[in-house]
Amino acid sequence: MKRETSRQSGSAGVHVVVCACAVFCFLVAVIALDPAASASREAVQTSGAAQALVIAHVTVIDVVIGKTLPDMNVVVEGERIKQAGPARQVKIPADAQVVDGAGKFLIPGLWDMHVHTFFGEQAPAGRDVTLPLFVANGITGVRDMGSNLDEVLQARADIAAGKLLGPRMIVAGPMLDGPKTQFPASIAITTPEDGRRAVDMLVARGVDFIKIQSYVPREAYFAIVEECKKKNIVFVGHVPDAIRGSEASNVGQKSFEHLIGIFEGSSTTEDKLLKGPKGPGKFLETYDPQKEDALIALLAKNQTWQCPTLYWERGQWLVDIIDVNKDLDLKYAPVLWRDQLWPRFTKSIIKELDTDPLPVRKQFVTHELDIVRKLNDARVPLLAGTDTPAGVDVIPGFSLHLELIRLVQAGLTPLQALQTATINPARFLDKTADFGTVEEGKIADLVLLLANPLDEIYLTQTTAGVVLNGRYLSPQDLDAMRKRVLETAAGKGAVHAAPPTPN
Ligand SMILES: [Zn+2]
Repeated sequence: MKRETSRQSGSAGVHVVVCACAVFCFLVAVIALDPAASASREAVQTSGAAQALVIAHVTVIDVVIGKTLPDMNVVVEGERIKQAGPARQVKIPADAQVVDGAGKFLIPGLWDMHVHTFFGEQAPAGRDVTLPLFVANGITGVRDMGSNLDEVLQARADIAAGKLLGPRMIVAGPMLDGPKTQFPASIAITTPEDGRRAVDMLVARGVDFIKIQSYVPREAYFAIVEECKKKNIVFVGHVPDAIRGSEASNVGQKSFEHLIGIFEGSSTTEDKLLKGPKGPGKFLETYDPQKEDALIALLAKNQTWQCPTLYWERGQWLVDIIDVNKDLDLKYAPVLWRDQLWPRFTKSIIKELDTDPLPVRKQFVTHELDIVRKLNDARVPLLAGTDTPAGVDVIPGFSLHLELIRLVQAGLTPLQALQTATINPARFLDKTADFGTVEEGKIADLVLLLANPLDEIYLTQTTAGVVLNGRYLSPQDLDAMRKRVLETAAGKGAVHAAPPTPN
């Protein structure tokens, strides 16, 4: 029998993009909640395997309607929530592992819906850094939008089998891109036949969906679409350069990434942009709000999901002015990323940006927030995704919380932002029976927080425990995970740049 006490997870920095008053109020709240001050009520006991887990006297956040349900007992048996109801009605099983949730808030596990866990040389350390950082930050599910096929399939299987600690993974394997792709984890598609063959191979290997990139040629795109429909598999991704956003929406592309296709479709010169060079300056110069309205109405009608990756965008359009040394979480990024990969990406991005001066790019980033506000107002469904760890200074796990802050800056309410990482992913994946809310029968992927994120979205960063597939990870467990990541990041641990040998 082991005795444990819950403590606030201390090592993760809290990013705040709000007024100083809110910070102060939050700190006061944390001090008031400091479990060290009330250690007696925090004592919990654990015993053997197969026992029930109970989060007791917790305030559950209903992410569908935005209500808080105080003083609830949530009973987990195996991987699922057996019961969730008022503490006075829900009995605690005799030998249960009880976690005191008094004064804390319980939300569904978070999803980052755009990640690249095994992105070749650009992001080694998928198993040692990326996956543990997701879990330590309350991310219990990810949609992997492009990874080396063998590695990502093995990780998905190992996690599902309980051999590897990580979020559940919905995976695309390698991305389908055009003949001139410059990314790792890609398949170069030139002809329609290439496209069909790639879809067939990936479906045979067992991927969950197909991810399309910018350079897929027009004829090949429609062949891929046709093959995906024949094989009954979802296709998502960039709207390719040669395709209109309206076309991609109408043929059933389930999600658009980075708002690509919307900029072009809101331009008076859309046809020219399909063939020629494009960029923030051109989009802004030829911006037509009426065309934008029409496209957004179409996206709403077709319910074409949007994953705007707003936080990642700053590392793209503003890469020349971001100072990675100001990042509170920089220490979690492996030395290789910081010293070699990011400087190299920065250089190559700047080379491509030289046509648009900084003020134009800044205006464009604001314009992107505007688009997201309009999409949200029009009820186009949104997903939170960060593209981590691809790009510059987009650190796994932490980045999802920063994305939620950006979504609120765009005009979403804290509830709506929270939905983009909880119930919306469940809806997108057609898995609302399993995920997305804290309710009886659902898989127990949960995050315990010290404060209510419906008040201020940045409070999703106050993680004080994670339940992953029914298994409770205490603040100490999460701290230990972070510590191991820090050692790896500093170059003291092993970084698996190569895939582990498949069984
Ligand atoms: Zn991506």
